[in-house]
Amino acid sequence: MSTDPSKLAFNAGWQYAPAPESTDHVTIDEQYDLFIGGEFSPPGEGRYFETINPATEERLSSVALAGEADVDRAVKAARKAYAGPWSKMKAAERGKYIFRIARILQERAREFSVVESLDGGKPIRESRDIDIPLAAAHFFYYAGWADKLEYAFPGRRPHSLGVAGQVIPWNFPLLMAAWKIAPALACGNTVVLKPAETTPLTALKLAEVIQEADLPPGVVNIITGAGDTGAAIVNHPDVDKIAFTGSTEVGRIIQRSLAGTGKKYTLELGGKAANIIFADAAIDQAVEGIVNGIFFNQGHVCCAGSRLLVQESVADEVITKLKDRMETLIVGDPLDKNTDIGAINSAEQLDTIRSYLSIGREEGAEMYQSSCEVPDTGYWCRPTIFTGVSQSNRIVQEEIFGPVLAIQTFRTLEEGLTKANNTPYGLSGGVWTDKGAKIFKMTQNIRAGVIWANTFNKFDPTSPFGGYKESGVGREGGLHGLDAYLRLES
Ligand code: NAP
Ligand code: MG
Repeated sequence: MSTDPSKLAFNAGWQYAPAPESTDHVTIDEQYDLFIGGEFSPPGEGRYFETINPATEERLSSVALAGEADVDRAVKAARKAYAGPWSKMKAAERGKYIFRIARILQERAREFSVVESLDGGKPIRESRDIDIPLAAAHFFYYAGWADKLEYAFPGRRPHSLGVAGQVIPWNFPLLMAAWKIAPALACGNTVVLKPAETTPLTALKLAEVIQEADLPPGVVNIITGAGDTGAAIVNHPDVDKIAFTGSTEVGRIIQRSLAGTGKKYTLELGGKAANIIFADAAIDQAVEGIVNGIFFNQGHVCCAGSRLLVQESVADEVITKLKDRMETLIVGDPLDKNTDIGAINSAEQLDTIRSYLSIGREEGAEMYQSSCEVPDTGYWCRPTIFTGVSQSNRIVQEEIFGPVLAIQTFRTLEEGLTKANNTPYGLSGGVWTDKGAKIFKMTQNIRAGVIWANTFNKFDPTSPFGGYKESGVGREGGLHGLDAYLRLES
């Protein structure tokens, strides 16, 4: 039994009383139409699909399925708004609209947090403390740049691109919408955005915010649908720029279809980040970093620390402490403020995760899961680690996108580095050590877009984000995020 006082409480069967967030202040409509040209209008073919709460499997609402004609209507509305008010407006005025969106998001933060957790399954603590505040922060940050673009790129003349088509995934629904819409608007573009099928609701609520902020009609259009709707946006001839976040598989399809079209694009794709723990690291903090790296948001994070590389001399200590910590993690009701790990986003994603659990065992790895209870209905996965894995195993090479960690050991810095770089991905990484020199050596040589030192999964609107290798093309966030929505003339 652990001697840590918090664990003693746990071992004695001590439990937190439930602390559910209230849903009284939230209204979700029976049905949502497409937000095109500043108004909600029904889809041409009259088709709708359901979005459910993955924690209960209950239907939350029905949303419109946009066909090609609807996509065309949205692109035309965006083009008209671009040619009309938006590209002619003074940049400082444009900035005011974006500031207004940011402030309304802050005012409605509680409502957005609850809807995000209901529709996507993530713990309310995360949607409340991370997703929604960061989404507002992105609008604030880019609002500030709107009238300062020439200072962002001294000596060069910035021009907007036109209509931006944006397709986003289900893991950070509102935040991904903010990452995409805020810089596009600040640079003077108009937007057609499609959220993921399983998490459309906060994007539709954002459409309400955009109405409330009184943006000129057509500057932002939000249309719901499936993969075909996304493909219709990508392939529309009158779209000037594509911004996509999602799987490497779909990213490849998009890149192929954009080749030779002259459209500018950014792709944020998958990852298989290594969290690298040296023997001289502060071990307790590192264990917290591992937990945050892979169990945060059910592991539905492209930059998740899904591989652990631990120096051999401390491997036993780290794994023991990690198992102890896993036992204290609370899996369950996303709306409960005590919950650490919420619901897996969809039945389909749960199947994918389960198939990787089988693959890991078939590959000969040893699996350990925490012993917590999970509810009978809904989609759940206990926090899971695999030891005894080798570099070529599929669970080490492929993105699982769930709360599943593959653990390997290394002896020397060079071995750690080689193992860290040995995947097709290069989105992020983490280094834990007491020595600054090791941090520099590792960060200079890991081929990844973002590397955290003695911390993990920290985001800020001012810092660029994006991948190497199969993790994508281009950067979002910070100044780089502006560049992606501009044509710079020298
Ligand atoms: P996905 O299939 O790539 O979907 C991402 C977005 O693209 C969704 O809005 C999706 O619509 C849309 N889409 C699907 N097919 C398309 C196409 N041919 N052309 C244009 N848009 C298309 O990813 P997913 O199904 O959400 O998740 C699958 C895997 O992607 C995960 O297991 C994970 O490996 C990876 N993923 C990565 C990130 C990241 O941030 N890098 C985020 C989420 C997922 P629908 O929602 O209607 O399918
Ligand atoms: Mg849903």
